[in-house]
Amino acid sequence: LGELLSVAAALQRLLPIFEPVTSETVPLNAAGGRVLAETVHARWPLPPFTTASMDGFAVRAADVQEASSEHPICLQIIGDLPAGQVYPGVLMAGQALRIMTGAALPAGADAVVPVEDTDSQFPQPALASPAQVKVYRSVHAGDYIRPRGQDLAAEQCVLARGQRLRPQDVGLLAMLGQANVPVYRRPHVAIFSTGDELISVGEGLSPGKIYDANTLMLAALLERAGVQVTTLASAPDDPAAIQQRLDQAVAAGVDLILSSAGVSVGAYDFVRRVIEAQGQLDFWRVNIRPGKPLVVGAYLDIPFIGLPGNPVSAFVCYEVFARPALARLAGLPDQPRPRWMVRLAEPVTSDGRESYLRAVVTRTGPHWLAKLAGGQDSGNLFSIVQANALLIVPSEVKSLPIGTEVEAWFLNDFTLC
Ligand code: AMP
Ligand code: MG
Repeated sequence: LGELLSVAAALQRLLPIFEPVTSETVPLNAAGGRVLAETVHARWPLPPFTTASMDGFAVRAADVQEASSEHPICLQIIGDLPAGQVYPGVLMAGQALRIMTGAALPAGADAVVPVEDTDSQFPQPALASPAQVKVYRSVHAGDYIRPRGQDLAAEQCVLARGQRLRPQDVGLLAMLGQANVPVYRRPHVAIFSTGDELISVGEGLSPGKIYDANTLMLAALLERAGVQVTTLASAPDDPAAIQQRLDQAVAAGVDLILSSAGVSVGAYDFVRRVIEAQGQLDFWRVNIRPGKPLVVGAYLDIPFIGLPGNPVSAFVCYEVFARPALARLAGLPDQPRPRWMVRLAEPVTSDGRESYLRAVVTRTGPHWLAKLAGGQDSGNLFSIVQANALLIVPSEVKSLPIGTEVEAWFLNDFTLC
């Protein structure tokens, strides 16, 4: 039957097959969620010039050193400085400029006095400035201003290659004037299900048939991960039909072919046999539950992963094997998925395979408490719909008592996509 690989060994064989895809340049407004293909350095400091951080008056701090509410200091207002405008002159001793948050601090000024600390008001809409302002407090040089470079320095590395661009990253790139962004191309994956029993949603059911859940579930998983998906028609349990789907995938120029079902030892499980005969079979048995049969190989040099057919097995094997493979294709750094220590609220059993148990984890007092989310049969998709975590029971372990701390993956963690 071939060797049963540990999950870790299977990943060690699987992941090196995948290299980052090529890169392309996209406009910044299309870069959110894409993976940076080059490290970005700041082209200028941020903020790029010293600005007021409060609405108030630009002053020389030395002028108002003695100011207090009992002994206000009177300064001459020489102008008005809204954000976006630059004062052409130099502020001299005894002078103040009305300044708004974000306006460039004028030459000669070294601090801002907030309007609240003066006798002035900024009515809406702004009226002409009075000629003078009384300042009720002292400020130090540097108060209420954002010095040039306070946030980051020019040339500083701001985003690393392999970073999936989050909204805040897009904002930063905009501040740096980066109109176009080098990103990795979206990985392109073809998917198809196999099975004589499958009917597509929208078609009428007939006795013995079931709706094809895996194709749509896998497409949704892939799309959430930013993958370009080519969905092929599901194939009957027939070697020629399966090979035809593989050929279609190759013709589409995909980076990975993902199938579901037909990988076990049933009489009609042809996927592995087709890969073995027409492609290259790397391994197909992994010590994992759910999902022992998992075919990894290639077809015409395109990497192939044949997921098991039971929907929960397909889901779990996607999470365990396909997701990190896709991360490599996408150009993301190899990073183990975060694991959380959770405490069993009930005893659990396993069969000695490395097991991924569906669980509902809730925060109770100081602990994350885990209860199983219904039956663990690999066909019970509803239990993974209810679960919010997968408990990872190591291989060789067959039972764990209540109260045991186990590692868990949280599902629904969209930061992982
Ligand atoms: P197999 O891997 O072909 O032995 O299938 C294992 C189980 O998963 C069987 O009960 C199949 O009917 C079911 N199954 C296979 N493919 C799908 C699919 N695409 N959607 C839902 N269930 C499936
Ligand atoms: Mg089948």
